[in-house]
Amino acid sequence: NGAEDENAKPKYTVAFEATFAPFEFRDEKTGEFTGFDIELIKAIGEVEGFDVELKEMGFQGIVAAVKTGNIDIGCSGITIKEDRLKEVDFSIPYYQAGLGIVVRANETRINGVEDLKGKRIAVQIGTTGADFARTIEGATVIDFDQVTDALMEVKNGGADALVNDYPVNLYYVNKSPKDYKMVGGILESEYYGIAVRKGNTELLEKINSGLMKLKENGEYARLYKKWIGV
Ligand code: GLN
Repeated sequence: NGAEDENAKPKYTVAFEATFAPFEFRDEKTGEFTGFDIELIKAIGEVEGFDVELKEMGFQGIVAAVKTGNIDIGCSGITIKEDRLKEVDFSIPYYQAGLGIVVRANETRINGVEDLKGKRIAVQIGTTGADFARTIEGATVIDFDQVTDALMEVKNGGADALVNDYPVNLYYVNKSPKDYKMVGGILESEYYGIAVRKGNTELLEKINSGLMKLKENGEYARLYKKWIGV
């Protein structure tokens, strides 16, 4: 893919959805896309000798775009799971996440997952959070394209709770603690992987090799500390 002469670096397209801080989002000051995933995939490209072209899209379309070859790489906090493994190949896991619940700061009825029964739950469409919400008895699940819009619905009272990835919830709740709080801890353990087209072992091997190099040279730890903390 890409290299016409030996010196030209291949360029791969990278799809992500940009309301998923601290993994991928638009920096309000610079207007640029940034975050853990964005810097991670760029760093993998640097150690493996490829350039990346960032392509923002709806989360729900990412796996399909990688599957058809419209996009080379999906890097967007994508949980490695059974049904997606049928569509695309994933890198080695690069981050352990999980699901969590966000409610309004003044909410008193909802203190954990049991209390979500029969409630209105906002989710981002096509996510593991959306799947989880649909297993809750009597709940009404409301899909949004963007996590930030789903959160707004909770704030406005149109939904009672958001179910979404825990580290992302933490980021947005810390940004607006007067509006939101987290309840119920971590609901499910999940691992993020970087997606490529099925059978694209050449690219997959570069990504895995890059991830391992960044773990060895301390760059992964630096990015983790910068974006996620601890
Ligand atoms: N990790 C979740 C999933 O894969 C959500 C990802 C996202 O919204 N970017 O479904």
